[in-house]
Amino acid sequence: MIFPRRQIEESFLIMSKRTRVFRVDPKAPEAEAIAIAGRMIRAGGLVAFPTETVYGLGANALDETAVAKIFAAKGRPSSDPLIVHIARFEQLSRVAQAIPAGAVELGRQFWPGPLTLVLQKAPCIPANLTAGLNTVAVRMPDHEVALALLQAADLPIAAPSANQFSRPSPTSAQHVIDDLADRVEVVLDGGNTPIGLESTIVSLVEDEPRVLRPGGISLETLREALPNLRYEPSYLADDAPSAPAPGTMLRHYSPRARVILFSGADAAEVYAAMRAEINSHERVGILASDADAREFAGLDVAIERLGADADEAAHHLFAALRSLDQQGVDCILARAPERRGLGLALWDRLLRASVGSLVEVGTAPSD
Ligand code: AMP
Ligand code: MG
Repeated sequence: MIFPRRQIEESFLIMSKRTRVFRVDPKAPEAEAIAIAGRMIRAGGLVAFPTETVYGLGANALDETAVAKIFAAKGRPSSDPLIVHIARFEQLSRVAQAIPAGAVELGRQFWPGPLTLVLQKAPCIPANLTAGLNTVAVRMPDHEVALALLQAADLPIAAPSANQFSRPSPTSAQHVIDDLADRVEVVLDGGNTPIGLESTIVSLVEDEPRVLRPGGISLETLREALPNLRYEPSYLADDAPSAPAPGTMLRHYSPRARVILFSGADAAEVYAAMRAEINSHERVGILASDADAREFAGLDVAIERLGADADEAAHHLFAALRSLDQQGVDCILARAPERRGLGLALWDRLLRASVGSLVEVGTAPSD
């Protein structure tokens, strides 16, 4: 049914009556808005806030009922555990226990920053936060708004990305409002998030440190501190388990349109395969670097430019996926990035957005 515009606007206002949005300076957030948001966390409510990676949907990490609200608001399965955010190093021993010396060293080196550590959980962490696991994921975000909120609440804050489950993560307050309008009490709007992809998650509870999700800190950088760091994404294994590790399910970060990823050593061959695919769909969107965009000029496609390099692509990716959805494309084509630096995290998000729809063009690269 098509509603007249006025009616849509009215229903949107009613829908979002519960949500208060505060514009804040990302470098020096206004104390009043932070105080209101901090009180909301202490009262058991939900606050969406920017971090250096993406927007988080926060609640008191020590309050089982508040944590349950996060899962309900996102429609997130109870099997997918949350990340606990802290503002000070001392809070680590409040939320985790049996902390290995290596974790302290990594924290000192990379916090605040986009590195999440999986450790043994402390008893005060409610079971629903960790999806019943005896481990907990922790990080200290590198964003003044997130840190100010944590200080004001004076509590560890559980916060997954502030999107509806399986949708692209939010990199602006508008994305949060689009997904969660009436389901969150306060949104702190601190502009676009600087990195644009989630944190790198490293588990320190096994014999060897293991990457559970590539993200904002590259594996190359982490390996300088952790030479034996392993990374074997379960969804790439031939014998991928039917019940994968928490949060590593393939379908994630998905726009409504189908995504097809093209990989190959020879750029010209990859472009040709992408162009050949265009006619099989009604309306095609293309995710392209500035350089690649030229290859599709003049064709009847919606092009979202991802910038000049992997850093810029990370910054733009999720917004680009959302924008192509809004433009009504039924299929999105993307060229797979090189799997190094931030490119590995981009590759992971694109593959998961495509739900494994990967076309290998020519000879597969040997990495
Ligand atoms: P999000 O904050 O939405 O980016 O998702 C957090 C992700 O952290 C989850 O999807 C899991 O992949 C991961 N995670 C959180 N806690 C744990 C844990 N205890 N063990 C393993 N992975 C975890
Ligand atoms: Mg998420």
